[in-house]
Amino acid sequence: MPHEKEKEVVIRALIAASNLCMSIQNDLIGKHSIQKEDRSPVTVADYGSQAVICKILSDAFPDDPIVAEEDSKELSKPGHAEILSQVTHYVSASSSRVSSGEVCRWIDLGTGSISRRYWTLDPIDGTKGFLRGDQYAIALALIEEGTVRVGALACPNIILDVHGGEKSRGGLFVAARGQGTVQFGISGNSGRKIRIANINSPSQALFTESLEPGHSHHHLQLKLAKKLGISRPPLRMDSQAKYAILARGEASIYVRIPSPQTPNYREKIWDHAAGSILVEEAGGKVTDALDRALDFTCGKKLENNYGIIATNGWLHRTVVDALGPLLP
Ligand code: AMP
Ligand code: MG
Repeated sequence: MPHEKEKEVVIRALIAASNLCMSIQNDLIGKHSIQKEDRSPVTVADYGSQAVICKILSDAFPDDPIVAEEDSKELSKPGHAEILSQVTHYVSASSSRVSSGEVCRWIDLGTGSISRRYWTLDPIDGTKGFLRGDQYAIALALIEEGTVRVGALACPNIILDVHGGEKSRGGLFVAARGQGTVQFGISGNSGRKIRIANINSPSQALFTESLEPGHSHHHLQLKLAKKLGISRPPLRMDSQAKYAILARGEASIYVRIPSPQTPNYREKIWDHAAGSILVEEAGGKVTDALDRALDFTCGKKLENNYGIIATNGWLHRTVVDALGPLLP
C-alpha cells in the first residue's frame, strides 16, 4: 500500500502530541479553575504539540517541509521564560530530557514553505475548546502536487461510543487517498473503517458548524438550514472534530461562511487539509462555498477559495444550490 510509512509516523506523532495535550489539560485546566483570560495552558500545549510532532516527522522524513501554525519567535522573548520552561518540561516528559533551545529548534522545524510535497500542521485546532475542556483537535496532513494524500486528526475529547462513558473518550482518525478513513481509540487501538451517512434528503441531516460566532456566519447558516427543511438545531462544535463526525455519519452537512465581522477572511490550510481527506475518504465531498475544489498550492491560506461546504456527498449539490442565492 502507498504511504504506509507516512501513516505509521503520523499515528505515532499524533499519539505523542495528544498525550502531551491531555496531561496539560489535566494539570493546568482540570484541577484548577483558571482565569478566563489566562490562555497560558493552550499556549504551552500549542508549542509543545508542535515541537513533538515536528521532531518525529523530520526524523522520519528529513527532506519534507512542514508548514505549521506556530514558530518560536514570541516564545524566545524574555517575557515568556515561564511558558518556555513549561513547554520544555512537558516535551521532556513526552520524549527524553531536552533543553529549551532544542525545543525552540524543534518548533521551528515547522516553518517550512509550500512545495511539491509538504506537511501541514495545526498543533491545537480549536484553542477555545481546549480552554473550556471541550473539543479540540491536533491536525496533520501530507500534500503532494496540491492533493491531500494522508490526513489525520487526534480528538482527545470526542466520544467514540455514546454508551461507553469516559472510557470511550478520545479518537484518532486517519485517512490515506484511495484507502478509506479509519477511526481508532486515542492510543491507536481498535481501528475500524467509518463511512458517511447515506442520507439524500436534507431534512434528515444534522447540520454542524463552529461554536464560535466570530468564526463563521451563524445567521446565514441558519437561513440555509431552514431553506433545506432542517428543523433540528445545528450541532456547534470547536475544531476539525466537525469533519470527524461528518466522516462517521453523525452529521451530514458542515458549512463555514466568513462571519460578517471578518468578511474577507481566508481559511488556513492547516484548518482543512486533514479534515477534508477524512470526509472524502469516508465517501463525502468538500469544496468551498462556490463549489470549487480547495486549492492547497497557493500558500498558508486558501486564497483561491471562499468558505467551506462539507457534506456526505449525496447532499452536496442541494446545499451548493440552496446556498448560492444567500451569499453576501
Ligand atoms: P473552529 O473551531 O471551527 O471555530 O475553528 C478554529 C479555527 O478558526 C482556528 O484554528 C483559526 O485558524 C480559525 N479562525 C480564526 N479566526 C477566524 C475567522 N475570523 N474566521 C474563520 N476562522 C477563523
Ligand atoms: Mg486551527
